[in-house]
Amino acid sequence: MKQFQFNSYAKLNLFLDILGQRADGYHTLCMVNTRISLHDRITIQFISSNDVLIMVDHPSVPSDERNTAHKAAVCFLEQSRQDTGVRIVIEKQIPVEGGLGGGSANAATVLQALNQLFDYPLSDEELRHIGEGIGADVPFFLAKGCCLLGGVGEQVLESYFWDEETIPCYAVLCSPQESVSTKKAYQLWDESASKIHRSPQELIAALQEKRFDRLPEYLFNSFEPVIYEAYPSIQNVYNIFCEISPTKPLLSGSGSNLFSLTTDLKEAKRVVQELKKSGFDASCWECLF
Ligand code: ATP
Repeated sequence: MKQFQFNSYAKLNLFLDILGQRADGYHTLCMVNTRISLHDRITIQFISSNDVLIMVDHPSVPSDERNTAHKAAVCFLEQSRQDTGVRIVIEKQIPVEGGLGGGSANAATVLQALNQLFDYPLSDEELRHIGEGIGADVPFFLAKGCCLLGGVGEQVLESYFWDEETIPCYAVLCSPQESVSTKKAYQLWDESASKIHRSPQELIAALQEKRFDRLPEYLFNSFEPVIYEAYPSIQNVYNIFCEISPTKPLLSGSGSNLFSLTTDLKEAKRVVQELKKSGFDASCWECLF
């Protein structure tokens, strides 16, 4: 039977400021996210029964209705009234619970892939609405380019992308052994006395001017002090990363992955090699602006 393959790209938070908390407990955010070339591989096959079957090669990712790709497929098939089922195989490359948005990315990829395969029965707005119900990061993954996000992360306020070639920007990614659950990270933030904030304006200006060499100066993440205090092993990775990289590393999302940015590929490769020599899992990816 015919199979269709799609890439499902990871994200980095170039900027993440926790602004406050809504009455329902969700935190309001100001974020600037980009996709990077690191991706999971998703294969979709139509099946004769009306089931949604998920196969995933990672032990901590469920293959039942808790899987974000499962939720996306069920909602899509119901809303677009398709009388068929699908088998979805997910080959994970994106570290799980790593602050790289793998679950949300997979949901967005399945929504866009099914919409394409069924010849666009749903509008972008309908896909966005389904996505938002699955996870706050999904609308970002459905949008184009690098995005300024508001609300609880689900509101795409602005997008920055260029149809012409731009100077490449590389992300050196370092994946600590320890993972951090997003729920625990927000608990730590709520309990913390020292809450740090910043404006995204300089970062946005550097993006708009395509001054990717200046992005490292303006990277910011409110979670950093609380995560480093609660997880000494991640603080240790950060300290060594700071010594090795000429540009300052940043935690992505609530961690535990850290990244630094550079427009110099040779430099990025050197930092990866040095991190590996220090015993860390490190790799280099391109930012997909
Ligand atoms: P974020 O930065 O959006 O908070 P994350 O990158 O830290 O997310 P994910 O890798 O998306 O975290 O995983 C979060 C949880 O979602 C995990 O407990 C995982 O088991 C579950 N999950 C459900 N479906 C998927 C999927 N398709 N891929 C990855 N994780 C999934």
